[in-house]
Amino acid sequence: MESVFKDLTTNVYGNPHSQSDSSAATHDIVRDARQQVLDYCNASPEDYKCIFTSGATAALKLVGEAFPWSCNSNFMYTMENHNSVLGIREYALGQGAAAIAVDIEDVHPRIEGEKFPTKISLHQEQRRKVTGLQEEEPMGDVYNLFAFPSECNFSGLRFDLDLAKIIKEDSSKILGASVCKKGRWLVLIDAAKGSATMPPDLSKYPVDFVALSFYKLFGYPTGLGALVVRNDAAKLLKKSYFSGGTVAASIADIDFIKRREGIEELFEDGTVSFLSIASIRHGFKILNSLTVSAISRHTTSLALYTRKTLLALRHGNGSSVCILYGRHDLMEMCHEMGSIVSFNLKRPDGSWYGYREVEKLASLSGIQLRTGCFCNPGACAKYLGLSHMDLISNTEAGHVCWDDQDIISGKPIGAVRVSFGYMSTFEDAKKFIDFVKSSFMSPQNHVDNGNQLKVYPIKSCGGFSASSWPLSNNGSLKHDREWILKSLSGEILTLKRVPEMGLISSFIDLSQGMLFVESPHCKERLQIRLQLDFYDSAIQDIELQGQRYKVYSYDNETNSWFSKAIERPCTLLRYSGSSHDFVLDRTKDIVTCKDTNSAVSFANEGQFLLVSEESVSDLNKRLCSDVQMDMCETEIEINTNRFRPNLVVSGGRPYDEDGWSDIRIGNKYFRSLGGCNRCQVINLTLNAGQVQKSKEPLATLASYRRVKGRILFGILLKYVSVNGEQQQGDSWLHVGQEVHPD
Ligand SMILES: *Cc1c(COP(=O)(O)O)cnc(C)c1O
Repeated sequence: MESVFKDLTTNVYGNPHSQSDSSAATHDIVRDARQQVLDYCNASPEDYKCIFTSGATAALKLVGEAFPWSCNSNFMYTMENHNSVLGIREYALGQGAAAIAVDIEDVHPRIEGEKFPTKISLHQEQRRKVTGLQEEEPMGDVYNLFAFPSECNFSGLRFDLDLAKIIKEDSSKILGASVCKKGRWLVLIDAAKGSATMPPDLSKYPVDFVALSFYKLFGYPTGLGALVVRNDAAKLLKKSYFSGGTVAASIADIDFIKRREGIEELFEDGTVSFLSIASIRHGFKILNSLTVSAISRHTTSLALYTRKTLLALRHGNGSSVCILYGRHDLMEMCHEMGSIVSFNLKRPDGSWYGYREVEKLASLSGIQLRTGCFCNPGACAKYLGLSHMDLISNTEAGHVCWDDQDIISGKPIGAVRVSFGYMSTFEDAKKFIDFVKSSFMSPQNHVDNGNQLKVYPIKSCGGFSASSWPLSNNGSLKHDREWILKSLSGEILTLKRVPEMGLISSFIDLSQGMLFVESPHCKERLQIRLQLDFYDSAIQDIELQGQRYKVYSYDNETNSWFSKAIERPCTLLRYSGSSHDFVLDRTKDIVTCKDTNSAVSFANEGQFLLVSEESVSDLNKRLCSDVQMDMCETEIEINTNRFRPNLVVSGGRPYDEDGWSDIRIGNKYFRSLGGCNRCQVINLTLNAGQVQKSKEPLATLASYRRVKGRILFGILLKYVSVNGEQQQGDSWLHVGQEVHPD
C-alpha cells in the first residue's frame, strides 16, 4: 500500500485514450501490466491476451455473454463451482443450449505414468424451451464450454488441469460419445481462488479462458480482474454492445459501426480502471520476490497442519470436535489440496455448533472467519449432504444466503472456512486452533454433564430428555412406553421393522397434561391429552402377539396422522394400567431381534436401560481406530441416543456398569438384570428426517462385546424400592443425582 500510495501521489497518469505524454505513459503501464498478468500464468503473448475487467465475475460474465451458443451447444461445469460460473448457464439456456453439471471422481490410487484415471459422472441435462430460435440451425460450427475452478473455494480441492487437455482433445473418451457428438470444446478455468497460491500454467495446459481477480492475489486493488483468453477462442466470441474504447468508427443516426481490431480493445468497454491497473505491479512485485512455488508450499503446509490438528481434537468423552470437508485421503498430496480448511464443529453429544456461533465467538477473539456456503452451492450441498429437497425446503422455510440461520432440522447448511495466503503465519494457525480448543472443546466429563433422563412415550418412537421426571406406580419412568402403534394385522410395530418410527419425536409437558408428537412427514404437530377419563369409553381388551392387554384407542384423525408419519396404516393404543405392561416390550424388542415370533413376557423386568458415557466413548474410539479413519469424520460418530437409554450416567470407567448388581440413585434402589442384547436397530442413523443403515456400530461391538452369542451394551434395571420401603405416590429422579453401585 505504501508503494501504491507513493506511486499515485508522485506520478501523473492521463486517460490512456488521449495522446498527451501522460496518456502515453499510462498506455505503456497498462501494456506492461497485461504482460505481467500473462507472465503470472506463464502464457505466451503469441497465444494469449489479457482483458481487464471489474473482477473475476465480470470476466466470467463476459465469456457467458459473448460465447457462440447454439441449440446444439453444451455448457458443462463441475458441481464445485462459484455462483459466478453457474450464472453462465442463464446465457446458455437462454439460447437453447443444454447445461449439465458433472462430478469429477479421481480413481485411486493414482498410478505413476498412467494417463488420466479420472472419471466424470453427469447430472441431469438442463434445457429450456426457447421460442423464436430456428429449430434446426444450418450446420454451422457448434461450440461447447467446459468450466471448472482451478481450486474449489469451498473445500480447497485442486482440479487437475490435464482435464482441460482431455476435454479439448479427447472429449468423447471422458464425456461419453452421446454428449459430444458435435462440435468443439472450449475450456474455462475460474482461477479467482486458485491463482492466489498456484496460478495455472498456460504453457502446459491449453485452457481457453482464465478468470482472475486481483484482490484475491494481493488485497489491493479491489474491483479489478482479468480474463486471460486464447487468441483463437477470443475470435469466436460475439460482442454485441459497443462503446467508447471498443469502437473504431460509428455513425450516430444509421446502423453503422466498425469495431476495433485488437482483442483487448474490443472487449474493454469504456475507460479501463487505469489507476488500479497501474497499482498491480506493486502486488506482483511481492509475489514474484517470494516466488509462487514458495507461496504454494508455505500455504499448503499451514493448511495441512491446521487440518491435521483439527481432525485430531477430541472432547473429554472421546467424540470428535471437528468434521472437515474435502478429500482427506489426499491430505498428504499437497498439490491436490490447496490452502483452504473447511469444517463444522460438534458438541460432545454429537450435535452441531452453528457456524454463525463459531464466527461470532471468533470475532470476539479477533479472528475473522468466512462462514456459509461461500457462493459455492454445489460444493456446499455435496459436502454437507444436502439434497435438492433439503435445499428447496430450506429456501421455503425462509433461509437466504446471508441470514443468521445455520442449522436446519439438525443439519448444518453451511461451513466455517479458514483460508491461508502468503502473509499468513504459523502463529495465525496456532492461534486459531487454540481458539477452537478453548471455546469448543469440553475437556473432562463432569459427573453431571453426561447424565440424562430419557422418556419414550411411544414405543420405538423418538423420546425426550428431562432434567427431572417422576416414577409411575409400577416403578418405571412415568408414561415411558405407555403408547404403541399397532399394524392392521395386529402386530406391535417396532423400530426394527419400521425405522421411520424413529423419526417421530415426542414430548410430554406434565404441567399442561399434554403429549406432543411431531413427524417430518406431517405438517401439523399432534397433541394428545394425558388425562385418561377422556378415553374411558374407548377401553378395549385386546390380544397382541399372544398377550392380552387393556388399552385405550384413538379417533381416526389421530390414527391417520400416525399412518402418514410412518407411511403405512396403523393405530395408536395406550396401555390402560392392568395386564401386561408395554414397558416390558423394551426387553421383548431386544429378544425379538433374534426371533420375532417369541413374544415372551418379561414381567416387571427391564424397566430402565442404563448406558454409560464412557462406554459409548470407548466404542467411538474403537470405531475410529478399527474402521477406516473416515468413520470419525462422518455421521457415524455414535451418540448415546443410539441406544435408546432411559438413564445415561458418566464419571466411571468404560463398562463399569457390567459388574453392577444393586444400584442406589438418591433414595431409590434398582437391581441390574444384566447386559442388554443389541440388534441392528442401533445401526440406524436417524437424521434430519432420513433413515440410514450401516453395519456400525454393531459390527465393532460384535468384535469385543460378545457373550454367548449375544452382543451386550448397557444394562437393564428394575426398580426395587425407596429406602427399602414401599414407594408411595410419585417420586422423582433428577439429572445430577449420584449413582452408587454397591
Ligand atoms: C472470489 C471468487 C469469484 C468471484 O470473484 P470476484 O472478483 O469477487 O467477482 C469467483 N470464483 C471463485 C472461485 C472465487 O473465489
